[in-house]
Amino acid sequence: MTIRNDLDPLAEYAREFATDGAIHLNGNSLGPPRHSLVGELDRVVSGQWAPRQVQAWFQDGWLDLPRTVGDKLGSLLGAGPGQVLVAGETTSTTLFNALVAACRLRVDRPVLLIEEASFPTDLYIAASVARLLDRELIVQSRNGFDTYLEENGAQVAAALAAPVDFRTGERREIRPITALCHAKGAISVWDLSHATGVLPVDLDANAVDLAVGCGYKYLGGGPGAPAFLYVPTRLQTTVDFPLAGWHGHAKPFAMTQTFIPADGIDRARTGTPPLLSLVGLNHALDPLVEVGIHALHRRSQELGEYFLECLAERRPELLNQLASPRDADRRGGHLALRVAEAEKVESALADSGVHVDARPPDLIRFAFAPLYVTREQVSRAVDALCNAVEGTQ
Ligand SMILES: *Cc1c(COP(=O)(O)O)cnc(C)c1O
Repeated sequence: MTIRNDLDPLAEYAREFATDGAIHLNGNSLGPPRHSLVGELDRVVSGQWAPRQVQAWFQDGWLDLPRTVGDKLGSLLGAGPGQVLVAGETTSTTLFNALVAACRLRVDRPVLLIEEASFPTDLYIAASVARLLDRELIVQSRNGFDTYLEENGAQVAAALAAPVDFRTGERREIRPITALCHAKGAISVWDLSHATGVLPVDLDANAVDLAVGCGYKYLGGGPGAPAFLYVPTRLQTTVDFPLAGWHGHAKPFAMTQTFIPADGIDRARTGTPPLLSLVGLNHALDPLVEVGIHALHRRSQELGEYFLECLAERRPELLNQLASPRDADRRGGHLALRVAEAEKVESALADSGVHVDARPPDLIRFAFAPLYVTREQVSRAVDALCNAVEGTQ
């Protein structure tokens, strides 16, 4: 068990992560592993897979893992049990599944609405779903999105948005958009990838219809960790997923010819899940759940504010290049700065052991993952940033 330090109660968690002395401010891209992951994988491989082979699916809780991990994640998402599933798909396929299902709940409505600043895969998948189902894809600016819903909401089958802009970190409030969708009879779909593990999203309280999110960013589930899907109990009997695979069948092992969806969230399953990846995600969730989403959020905000304080002290003119809202309550877990030659700054920082994430042409993003980034690292990162920016001028 970790020993808590009174001055910095979460700092001790940082020791649990294999960061190898480097500073990882790119945990919104891929978080580092915990040291204990290797032992956990060995426990499953040597202790379950090797001795029990295929029987382990039934005897070691493997078949339940998509739901077990989903329920654990639910505590970070404000979702009650039985509403979150980790089927073993990517975020892209999970979003496809959710968007088609959303459109199938609104067969008479011609429009699929999305924000233009969405993560590219969301735009591609939404366009593909629109082509497949013969709907019109409407792409709107942030303000245009709300206006479109207000003026043409009765045409909208599903509206897809994200609570955190993946470039600027700017927040989008889930509650009012979801309420607006409901007032117009549209299905609200949220991509939580850049929020999960760092920002409370209160899915049940906000009455969200469908949501998806990524397992390998702040959750730290590992490279290519599977995505999750949220389906509230009230929609679970009507929702009809296009990826109707045998694991989503009411009786998968009866091997019948016709698909009969399982009760509850199990109908969102597809095929045999990537067990070792699920084990990795499950293991990564433990410290996050232990700390809880509100403390994680607070910690991430404090680190972000400290970053801005250090910058204000050492190179205040860089604050004019902030691409993110100055108010911490209007941001997710990361900050973005506009700098000339962002990729050069990124590689100069990497040379000094500070890992950030550039988004060409001119953005660098700094993510404040709450459990393995420390105040002391933030201060060192700002020093390195000031040097790197000087070096590229
Ligand atoms: C990271 C991210 C994804 C990733 O999709 P994958 O299919 O898992 O690679 C999708 N959407 C958003 C908003 C993201 O931030």
